[in-house]
Amino acid sequence: MPTDADCQACGACCREAFEQVSISPQEPVIERHPTLVRFRNGAFELARSHERCAALVDSPEGYSCTIYAERPRSCRAFEAGSERCLAARRRVGLPA
Ligand code: SF4
Ligand code: SF4
Repeated sequence: MPTDADCQACGACCREAFEQVSISPQEPVIERHPTLVRFRNGAFELARSHERCAALVDSPEGYSCTIYAERPRSCRAFEAGSERCLAARRRVGLPA
């Protein structure tokens, strides 16, 4: 069962496992990081870059979120080890 510590080596939920990360209209990220937000089909969502969230960086230390302190609510609610986490890992070919 993956823990927070495994997230740096995984990043599945921030990359290809999902196609979209929704943002509620009142969330601070919209004003603070406008280049990372897009408005599509009448709703806000995180911008994507090469099928990944545009806020994700990949370094030798692993994956990390450049707006971690201000990430959207849906990202905060996503729990390592949850069913959705395990599904995300499977989708990118990692053990769940
Ligand atoms: S899919 Fe799970 S283990 Fe992977 S980064 Fe997301 S929360 Fe962490
Ligand atoms: S904002 Fe951060 S935590 Fe949320 S999907 Fe993008 S990289 Fe992942």
